[in-house]
Amino acid sequence: MPDLTNNIVSYKNDTLIENALSPLKKIVSLIDKSNLSFQQNDIKTTLDYLNEAWMIFQGTPSVYSHELNALILYRFVQIYFKKQDFKKLEYFSELLLDVSQKIGDTEKEVTALTNIGITRSVFSDYKTSMPMFVDALEKSRQLGLRNNAANCLINIGTIYANLFNYEEALNRYNTVLEEYQDVLIETTHIAIHLNIGNLYYASDQYKLSLDFFKKALASAQNLNKKNYAAHAHALMSRTYLALYHLPKAIQSAHLAAEYMSQIDNAPGRQINLLNLAQITFLEEDTEGSSEMVLRGIAAARRAQDDASELRGFKLFSEILKKEKNFERALRCQMIYSQKQEDYLKMQRNMHILDYEIRYALRDKERKIEELTKEVRYQTLLIDRNSQIEKQNEQLRQANEELQQFAYITSHDLKEPLRMIGSYSQIIQKMFAHLLDDDSRLYFKFINDGATRMNGLLDALLQYATIGKADLELEPVQIADIIIIARSNLKLIIEETDTNILCGEMPTVKAIPSFLVQLFQNLIGNAIKFRQENNRPIILINAEEKNNDWLFSIKDNGIGIADEHKERIFVIFQRLHHRNKYEGTGIGLSICNKIVTQLGGKLWVESEPGRGSTFLFTIPK
Ligand code: ADP
Repeated sequence: MPDLTNNIVSYKNDTLIENALSPLKKIVSLIDKSNLSFQQNDIKTTLDYLNEAWMIFQGTPSVYSHELNALILYRFVQIYFKKQDFKKLEYFSELLLDVSQKIGDTEKEVTALTNIGITRSVFSDYKTSMPMFVDALEKSRQLGLRNNAANCLINIGTIYANLFNYEEALNRYNTVLEEYQDVLIETTHIAIHLNIGNLYYASDQYKLSLDFFKKALASAQNLNKKNYAAHAHALMSRTYLALYHLPKAIQSAHLAAEYMSQIDNAPGRQINLLNLAQITFLEEDTEGSSEMVLRGIAAARRAQDDASELRGFKLFSEILKKEKNFERALRCQMIYSQKQEDYLKMQRNMHILDYEIRYALRDKERKIEELTKEVRYQTLLIDRNSQIEKQNEQLRQANEELQQFAYITSHDLKEPLRMIGSYSQIIQKMFAHLLDDDSRLYFKFINDGATRMNGLLDALLQYATIGKADLELEPVQIADIIIIARSNLKLIIEETDTNILCGEMPTVKAIPSFLVQLFQNLIGNAIKFRQENNRPIILINAEEKNNDWLFSIKDNGIGIADEHKERIFVIFQRLHHRNKYEGTGIGLSICNKIVTQLGGKLWVESEPGRGSTFLFTIPK
């Protein structure tokens, strides 16, 4: 039980505390006492304590607490359920529903819903009871209250059975048997089997109905539950009669009668009396059967079993006819017709009600489904977003680390490298007179290696710094960029007599220094990878493509085989030995990084021996 004394902490004024404390204390102690007597199954004393607590609670507005209220009401509901006092049960369940919803106590809400459902069912108000059970079922499932979920399903099934909707009823009972077997108490299990048997009987599927009655009978006998066994026998006998299986019908009816003689108010009594009446009639004992049928009809009335009453009148009129008591037979026939008409009318009304209920439920179910879908979708979306955010963050961190790594290595490696280079030169100079040709060659290797490594580190540094700056894009005229790139490559252009033809160039938003690097690398490669004895010709073009500018740098060089077209963009990937073509294998990866940073793409189209075209886009 929650610590209710906490509720008074907020009272500032001492006298208020005093005033509030005493009724609160009294209520709590009364609830405690009622709990105790409830556990001892002393319903009367429990009720006395509860009523007293309830009175104090209602008379003292200052202690008003929904939790406390829910606690008292919950106990009332339990008590009146036990007492099967449906009027009071309904009253307190409705109060409990209200307050449990206010405090968001779903478990108590489920109790309230279920009990309102039960009371309304008892008063045959299926239209109200059905949605209560459906709601309670849904919530019980969510909360994992399997016991309650099973009860709700059984109640829903029974309502459907009362509405003559056998299919829906069977569906619910079967679900209970399939999914909730473990929480069913034995007698409930038997009752469900009997109900299913009855449903099959009502839909003229006698063989199936017998199967279920037999199952029920077996369990009842196992548990020595005479009333259930009696009921099962009676129902079996009725089914055998429908199948014209007289010996078996007789056997079952006699067994049922034997059980019934041992217990008061056996369920299915009216059914068995009519079975016996029918059997005696078939045995041509009209006198015996007319006595039995009258007893059967009376019992059916007491049990408010309309179907049996109808069966009784039908049989009785046949008996009277057989007795040639035509006047009475006619009167009986008229009563039967009237009753049958009433019964059919009732059945029709139930069908309509069933339709209305299912229509309303479908609406409700649709709303629930939509809501669940939406919640599921939203959760999925949130999950996805947070996943993406997490991945982005990881990616960003990894990128940053990589950049830092590359920057630090290239920076910090250059210093020791410079030392290697300069000291080897000093040694070479100092001992120049002692060096033979081989030694001089070895020194050349050292110097070349140092220079090459220096070049690699420069390129690495360049690569690392591309992503470093926070990009502040500015309008850049590409024509100007090309002029700068060309002037940086002036020497090699002149040396190789390269012809560069340039179309009209746009202005784009970018970082000028990066674009110079980009064009310079691509033009530089176009010259470097020229064909021997062939004057390099480079065509540079730009065209609008949807939301992008598409640039192309086309050469007449050696070209690139298909299988290499992807890997040349990977850092340090080269296709040739540096003896043939100098380089570090970083140029294109830098180009790729620059274009990607601007939101574009870089690729190559080429044919070995016929030249290459490097293409890239830059968003407008
Ligand atoms: P590097 O030029 O330093 O070798 P890059 O990354 O610029 O490195 O180029 C990678 C490889 O792609 C080059 O080694 C070369 O084999 C190939 N390549 C690049 N540009 C061209 C081109 N215009 N024609 C033919 N091959 C090229």
